[in-house]
Amino acid sequence: MSSRRVVSVLGSTGSIGTSTLDVIARHPDRFEVYALAAHSSVEVMLEQCRAYAPRYAVMMDEAAATLLQKRLPDDLDTEVLQGEGGLAAVVTAPQVDVVMAAIVGAAGLPSTLAAARAGKTVLLANKESLVMGGHLLMQAVRESGACLLPIDSEHNAIFQCMPVDERGTPSDKGVSKVLLTASGGPFRLWSRAQMAQATPDQACAHPNWSMGRKISVDSASLMNKGLELIEACWIFDLAPARVDVVVHPQSVVHSMVQYLDGSVLAQLGNPDMRTAIAYGLGWPERLDSGVAPLDLVATARLDFEAPDESRFPCLRLAREAVAAGGTAMAVCNAANEVAVAAFLALQIRFTDIPVVIEYALERVDNVQAASLSVIEDADAQARRLAAQCLAGFQQSGGLAGRA
Ligand code: NAD
Ligand code: MG
Repeated sequence: MSSRRVVSVLGSTGSIGTSTLDVIARHPDRFEVYALAAHSSVEVMLEQCRAYAPRYAVMMDEAAATLLQKRLPDDLDTEVLQGEGGLAAVVTAPQVDVVMAAIVGAAGLPSTLAAARAGKTVLLANKESLVMGGHLLMQAVRESGACLLPIDSEHNAIFQCMPVDERGTPSDKGVSKVLLTASGGPFRLWSRAQMAQATPDQACAHPNWSMGRKISVDSASLMNKGLELIEACWIFDLAPARVDVVVHPQSVVHSMVQYLDGSVLAQLGNPDMRTAIAYGLGWPERLDSGVAPLDLVATARLDFEAPDESRFPCLRLAREAVAAGGTAMAVCNAANEVAVAAFLALQIRFTDIPVVIEYALERVDNVQAASLSVIEDADAQARRLAAQCLAGFQQSGGLAGRA
């Protein structure tokens, strides 16, 4: 019998997915890839199937699944599955030990929740699922005995600096606050007027991290930090007032935990997600991740400053959503997804993103996020309202017509 840990990688063709496979490839004696799952990138999936010979390859898109099936070499023993059913199967299969949840956006919620309910070790990159369904997801983790290991670099850093039990449950014993660091993104020093003219490529040109386009835009608007604030409250069971955001442009200190006695523990490293991924894959052991050692002399400076919520209203909106509780967080997340997609499609300005989110937050009734269907309903309402807001922009002259 193999003692290797059996892994399903969801979102395998993305930035986190490919970094995960890079770490796995360094440890063929420790990990076995059971399944890869992605939306529609057939070419990348085909390459990954050749390299990792998974038992299953899941494509969400039907045409992509058919094409992949056609293109897979005959000598490869990989079966192609399609859609949510396929995802659920590779997440809950009894052989699977570890699920890397690295699908982007709300689309990742059902599979992340299924992995938690099945008691798997869940490596959580898909922060949107926790933002939308934090209560459900954390309840599933407690009830099934799943082990939730945060992969988002900040939460991974906090996890490393907090006491945790043998099941990976963190404890806030002696902790006064969590200090969540933010790079400030590419527009840290830009005025509102400059941001109104920003292009998608400028928003995606993150100074320190290379990431997918959605999270890159979120980093530029500081919505990423807002989502991470909500994520921290759920993972570490903290009231929002116990999470401070500190802008740290070098992205070397990935976050900190402040204790009652005045101690502050920090985790430092180069900005490369493979450190957090290797930590999650190896926990409680440490694995070689391929990340270069940190050169503090070359880094030379570590700067810290307060975030500016007047230039970055998305952070305020996320704060208000977590304070409101219930489905407000799902609404905030869904409206943000619609707004970011519209910005990337050149339909709205960068500075319109918070306007769309606020429009939805003001109009969807906030109810208890008691079940997946309640959350999905709030998500759908928020998407409809966000689309309505976008249509209003079009009527008032579109991108060019508005001042
Ligand atoms: P990405 O856009 O590079 O990759 C997304 C992956 O999800 C792709 O494999 C894509 O095929 C798949 N996908 C998209 N829609 C899907 C759907 N409906 N069903 C199934 N699969 C789908 O994104 P990324 O940067 O790798 O981010 C993934 C997640 O990790 C996000 O939630 C992000 O917030 C989080 N995260 C990323 C980073 C980073 O450095 N990239 C850091 C922290 C957290
Ligand atoms: Mg992060």
